[in-house]
Amino acid sequence: MSNVPEELQPVNVMHEIERNDLLRELSEESRNRLLPHLSPVTLPAGHVLSGVRYSGAHVWFPTSSVVTLQHVLKDSCSAQFGIVGREGAVGLPALFSDRTCSDHAVVLQGGSALKISRLTLRSEFHRSQDLRDILMQYSWAMMQIAAQTVACNTHHCLNDRLCTWLLLVMDRMHGNHLSVTYEELANLLGVRREAVMQSARRLQNAELIEHRRGCLSILDRQGLEASACECYASARRTVSPTALHDTAHRRHEPVPMVAYR
Ligand SMILES: [Zn+2]
Repeated sequence: MSNVPEELQPVNVMHEIERNDLLRELSEESRNRLLPHLSPVTLPAGHVLSGVRYSGAHVWFPTSSVVTLQHVLKDSCSAQFGIVGREGAVGLPALFSDRTCSDHAVVLQGGSALKISRLTLRSEFHRSQDLRDILMQYSWAMMQIAAQTVACNTHHCLNDRLCTWLLLVMDRMHGNHLSVTYEELANLLGVRREAVMQSARRLQNAELIEHRRGCLSILDRQGLEASACECYASARRTVSPTALHDTAHRRHEPVPMVAYR
């Protein structure tokens, strides 16, 4: 895990807002209020955004980076319970509570994001109905994904889980090549390195993927989808921008406020 500082990049914030699905869904009024508070940043792979040793002072909206959410045990064993790309946001638990979040958010694929102070976002969350709707719908979706991940890890075989994981990550990337080692894959999937190597070899022999010198590529997307467990289609339905948009706009009752200080 790297502690390389985020670098400010001279980019057009308005343009970056269009690249994140949650920010793009906001009304013009809400977006204009957030605009002066959003800072474009570059997130290097391996950078830790949140965890026990981190203040939780910011929320990030990825625009091209991909971040994994992991729960780490005392013996440093970990397992992933969520993936966030340009469809979502990282650090939302700190928006709802001042309690320390023990989960880690680690950048898997380096890229860009928009960063905002938690306190500023919290204040806008109070003021803006559409910001509240979209962030609560997204948080609900991520809770569903975490619950599904528990069932997936318990009941689905590693081969199928690896296919699902690859598809979910690649869907959030612009290219088809991911830099990842077997060690990292094993940590994210919560299995031994040998087991993930064996599964990856099976997928390579079936010509679904290629893993060479730490670079993983999908060769046959349809084949990979056919081999993935049901969790891939389910996760896509849950966090797709269309699903969030429809749910937020179908609502007639105001979203209840969450309890926070
Ligand atoms: Zn599954």
